Amino acid sequence: IIACPCALGLATPTALLVGTGRGSQLGILIRGPQVLESTRRIDTIVLDKTGTVTTGQLTVTAVEAVGPVSLERMLALAAAAEHGSEHPLARAIVDHARATGLASLPTAEEFRAHAGAGVTAVVEGHALAIGRASWLRDEWAIDVAATPAGELVADHEAEGGTAVVVAIDGTVAGIVVLADTLKPSSALAIERFRALGLEPVLLTGDNEGAAAAVAAQLGIDEVYAAVTPAGKLAVIRELQAAGHVVAMVGDGVNDAAALAAADLGIAMGGGTDAAMAASDLTVVSGDLLVVADAIRLARRTLRTIIGNLFWAFGYNVAAIPVAMMGLLNPLLAGLAMAFSSVFVVTNSLRLR
Ligand code: ADP
Ligand code: MG
Repeated sequence: IIACPCALGLATPTALLVGTGRGSQLGILIRGPQVLESTRRIDTIVLDKTGTVTTGQLTVTAVEAVGPVSLERMLALAAAAEHGSEHPLARAIVDHARATGLASLPTAEEFRAHAGAGVTAVVEGHALAIGRASWLRDEWAIDVAATPAGELVADHEAEGGTAVVVAIDGTVAGIVVLADTLKPSSALAIERFRALGLEPVLLTGDNEGAAAAVAAQLGIDEVYAAVTPAGKLAVIRELQAAGHVVAMVGDGVNDAAALAAADLGIAMGGGTDAAMAASDLTVVSGDLLVVADAIRLARRTLRTIIGNLFWAFGYNVAAIPVAMMGLLNPLLAGLAMAFSSVFVVTNSLRLR
């Protein structure tokens, strides 16, 4: 009677069931039990900027034309090219073009999205490339810095904006400047991460100026800016090689590789399917505070499992020798056995 291992068998599944159940109430989807183990050891949390710590609902703050193409025409062509992209920047540009009175956009052909860089398309016979200046230079041999747009980009970026360059038929036509706002809960979430012993790191494909502005508002000291999707993966590997156990929070296609490589990948629910598929945890609401809750819940669940195993095992180890010596009343043994199972279940239910 006393050797019945009922409580041992219940120790892990009951805690997992209650923990993941509580998680779904909070909008936290946990991929599997191995996630709990990785959550325990993480000491660094890498955060994507756009759509993760910021709302990702950008607004266009300025449009400037520097070439022979008129501002209206440039905006129309750019919006047509961006129409096929699911990037928050692209949506903001299309919305802005519509808001300025453009009822119907020209149609784009040969549309291609280049993750973490920009888009290319052919609109009304013109080849368009829209994206960050360094990508236009490296990929399309368009030297933005040599045109008046170079200085405009530098100025706007120094003020914390995101400047996207529009090139038409290989020449710089102008720039579109966008601004993003922080999610209201991001600053508090960063404090929570620190309280959980996690060092926050900001990792973004956006320019240094915009990254520095966000990092300063949140009090994050370690910032990697203007990083390509492959670069994001490299940063995760670098941190891991330096001995850190790394969690990564992201929302975009450009984060997917980094999410998969991180010890714990956390996707924002409002983000892309690629990010969710590559992650261990999904936070449905996309609120960073819930990410902190998710880490706390996962750690508490693991602690409950360990506590359950300890008591269930301890009960058998202590009581079996007593029973072997013939000192245990079978009635008491029966009670103790039942109590050990009730204890384990009750202990697990505390997770709720
Ligand atoms: P983040 O890491 O902040 O989520 P991304 O890696 O998605 O940013 O993008 C990095 C940069 O690439 C952007 O700041 C922008 O300059 C450029 N970019 C990406 N997608 C687009 C697009 N659809 N249109 C214009 N520029 C883009
Ligand atoms: Mg993003």
